[in-house]
Amino acid sequence: MHDPSDAYEALVQFLYRAPIGLAQIAPDGTVDMLNPMASNLLMPIARDGGLDNLYAVLAPIAPQLPQLAAEFRDASGVICEGLRAPLPPELTAPGSPQVLAISLMKLDGERLMAVVTDATLEVQREQETLLRRLRNAARTDALTRMPNREAVREQLQHLVARPLAAGEFAVLFMNCDRFRQINDTLGQAAGDELLVQIADRIRGALRPPSDRIDAHSSTGQLAARVGGDEFVVVLDGMRAREDAERVAGRILDALARPYRVQGHEVVCGTSLGLAWGAESSHCGARDADEILRDAGIAMVEAKRAGGARHLVFEASMRERAARRAGIEAELRQALAEEQLFVVYQPVVGLLPDGGTDYAAGVEALVRWRHPVRGVVPPIEFITVAEECGLIGAVGDFVLERSCRDFMDWRTRLGEAAPRLLAVNLSRAQLGQPGWIDSVRRILQVTGIAPEQLQLEVTESLAAQDQGIQQRLHELKALGIQLALDDFGTGYSSLSSLHLLPVDTVKIDRSFVSQADTSRHHQVLIEATVKVAESLGMKTVAEGIETQSQADVVRAQCCAKGQGYFYSRPLPSDALLDWLASHEEATA
Ligand code: C2E
Ligand code: MG
Ligand code: MG
Repeated sequence: MHDPSDAYEALVQFLYRAPIGLAQIAPDGTVDMLNPMASNLLMPIARDGGLDNLYAVLAPIAPQLPQLAAEFRDASGVICEGLRAPLPPELTAPGSPQVLAISLMKLDGERLMAVVTDATLEVQREQETLLRRLRNAARTDALTRMPNREAVREQLQHLVARPLAAGEFAVLFMNCDRFRQINDTLGQAAGDELLVQIADRIRGALRPPSDRIDAHSSTGQLAARVGGDEFVVVLDGMRAREDAERVAGRILDALARPYRVQGHEVVCGTSLGLAWGAESSHCGARDADEILRDAGIAMVEAKRAGGARHLVFEASMRERAARRAGIEAELRQALAEEQLFVVYQPVVGLLPDGGTDYAAGVEALVRWRHPVRGVVPPIEFITVAEECGLIGAVGDFVLERSCRDFMDWRTRLGEAAPRLLAVNLSRAQLGQPGWIDSVRRILQVTGIAPEQLQLEVTESLAAQDQGIQQRLHELKALGIQLALDDFGTGYSSLSSLHLLPVDTVKIDRSFVSQADTSRHHQVLIEATVKVAESLGMKTVAEGIETQSQADVVRAQCCAKGQGYFYSRPLPSDALLDWLASHEEATA
């Protein structure tokens, strides 16, 4: 049989040795009883070294205790629990408590029990959890829930620092080929939805197929969104570059399937650049940012090669990228300092009676008077302008300048002035929101009649998609004429010509230049003219350089011709001289 006093004694013994501080106090704070742990914890903060009154001892860190106790009305119960009291820095040594947790309980009218514990570790752990959460949030993309650029950089830093023997890694940098266009035509909400679907497909393509348990596929993989429509995959533990390329191919296949976004079917190819860890560092990439940049450069090259493909980074790409960046910076300056100008190439009418109509029209072609390089042709800067978003400014400049010149010729020459102005358009211009408004504005401020303006688009562009077609119809609605440029070089064929809202087909120079030597090219020209005629479209032969080429296209009934045989592109004044001399010749 147990004596109840034995049990009480055991409890007191237990509490006495417990790793928590216990203090029994009177309502005024006077300490009645204190276990060793309590004195350990309280001694360092006891100002005068005495532990006679708990309230006095705790006053510097928990001054509210006496008031809390005084306001507590019940006969007994918990006054406060787990109150956190950080110690002032001068009282904390390394390894000693930094935060105390204090609980106070009313036992009866005469006695209170205080429980004091060292909460340092607990608080540290809480802070770590909080920090980790914050860090994760800062390393996660809110839209796709994928890791973000920060997370990728961290992972790459770790991989770069690792000894080489630990296996190879590859960085895949992806960018959608037409995201901006989709965003502009379907709206930002649709764009966001598309990005989420893209993220899902990338994750899906990285998961090993469930039917194949492959020990090697359990390598480290990180899929992240690092910018607007830019995604990165880091593949670790790769045995060979071919393996990484195979994964790249699998991702691109998954991304090429049509998407369903807000009821629309959307197709969007992806360009992918691959940087192979070891090679990248051989080429001088030393840190995470440089490897990411290399993969990004390869992605841009993939896009320039037509998109919807992957390319592996090579050192020579870095120089090309630097050159492009240089052109971009200079082009910005060129726009600001008005180094761009427009030249005009006559487009002559090939009259059925064998005559030539020299004032039929002109094509405006942009040039750049570079302070060092001299006159730079458009192929060297139009693509860069498209890539860096400067094409809008370049295009608006050419359109406005040429419309003004055109109207100026009319004032000076009247009926003898060119009757049609052709201006080239780039795909990026058609994609820009509000661009139609700036065309309308330019028509208005220059006073040119819309039917005297012909905008030229390349066939690959015109065939592109619904959004582009829509824009072309808007231009038609303004009364502007449309021409299909470089016909024969792109994707669309004679059989799809009727789908395009164009008035004129320009037969590419590559056909015309062989018109008098190759029967094959002659047949193609003839067929193009016939099909165009049947659709009510006119034809222009581009790049006529010789009399015999001119004779052939005339015999094929091309309505107009253009080329060095008639004239090279000329500055405005020289064009007027050219017109004058030919007027005399005809007259
Ligand atoms: P395009 O629209 O097909 O223009 C005709 C190009 O062929 C011009 O080159 C012209 O100088 C050249 N050309 C004309 N006749 C002959 C010939 O008999 N022989 C040879 N070898 N070439 C001839 P350019 O001016 O260098 O322009 C190249 C391309 O750049 C243009 O092709 C057009 O696609 C683009 N481009 C020019 N100006 C602009 C512009 O203002 N905006 C846009 N977006 N693109 C432009
Ligand atoms: Mg053209
Ligand atoms: Mg052309």
